[in-house]
Amino acid sequence: MTAAEPSDVVFLFDVDNTLLDNDQVIRDLRDHLAVEYGEEVRDRYFAIFEDVRTESGYADYLGALQRYRLEDMRDPRVLKISSWLLDYPFAERLYPGALEVVARVVRRGPAVVLSDGDAVFQPLKVERSGLWDAFAGNVLIYVHKERELENVERLFPARRYVMVDDKVRILTAIKGGVGPTRHDRVRAAGTLRPRRGDRRLLPNPRRRRRAHRRTARGQSPRAPHGPDLSSGSSERYTEAARAAR
Ligand SMILES: [Mg+2]
Repeated sequence: MTAAEPSDVVFLFDVDNTLLDNDQVIRDLRDHLAVEYGEEVRDRYFAIFEDVRTESGYADYLGALQRYRLEDMRDPRVLKISSWLLDYPFAERLYPGALEVVARVVRRGPAVVLSDGDAVFQPLKVERSGLWDAFAGNVLIYVHKERELENVERLFPARRYVMVDDKVRILTAIKGGVGPTRHDRVRAAGTLRPRRGDRRLLPNPRRRRRAHRRTARGQSPRAPHGPDLSSGSSERYTEAARAAR
């Protein structure tokens, strides 16, 4: 996992709501609990879930279930909730083109999952979704990833990093929290989630015209700085990276 020589660029990818529609996973869980166990169970579970998230700092579905069970030991049906969670079809929740983007990025440099979560459910999600293999096993899961940058650098040394995450708070913390000498080495990019009317994720017509003029002058259409990933669905990613840096 440790590279001897620093890479030119390492790509760091968040998972939830960046590559995978985790909001839909939560909606499905809410529906499942309401249909199978009733709205009271659903509401109590999610109240505990929020308590656990506040305490631990990350979403802990199984931890919340353990705590819920302590409140309601006499209902054996609760034991089936864990099976539903562990059997969930995560691969169906990847955003369209997510695996293609990752496959293209890994040809440019090492790509790493950098996610927050628990030690059981989150790795399972990464594996079952197909992301574990797509990232060739480069998977880092922490409690507060923005506090683990030195460890990330040690495991994946690079001259530059691109961080892709749906949370502005995380992007800001990572760009601002790595010190003045590292600040310029980190580029922050938004989610791959397609959002209606979000111009940041659409190909930039002005940039496209500029590239066209460069081509007409016999110059490379490649952007003057940064890796060129512009093709197909990667174009969205590139635009997101440039817009957010
Ligand atoms: Mg996220």
